[in-house]
Amino acid sequence: MTRTRQNDQPADAPRCSHCGEAFPTDQLRDLHRGLEHYDALADDEREAFDEAYIAETEGLRSFRLRALAALVLVYFGFLFAYAVMAVG
Ligand SMILES: [Zn+2]
Repeated sequence: MTRTRQNDQPADAPRCSHCGEAFPTDQLRDLHRGLEHYDALADDEREAFDEAYIAETEGLRSFRLRALAALVLVYFGFLFAYAVMAVG
């Protein structure tokens, strides 16, 4: 697989149509275009940015919930371990 020197992405990776930067996924490219070139975007590119932004927001929310659940599990795990050690 050929890689570019610019940011170590494959040569056939999705590229920004405005600055040529390569991205690992179409979603990341759409997010970049919306954040860096929003005024120059066509309607379909803005629509793709909106969809990518919504998907990213949902993904972040899901990650935060899972991270919180893991933190609660670790907290109570240590709490119960301490209680068992302190009593026993
Ligand atoms: Zn760009």
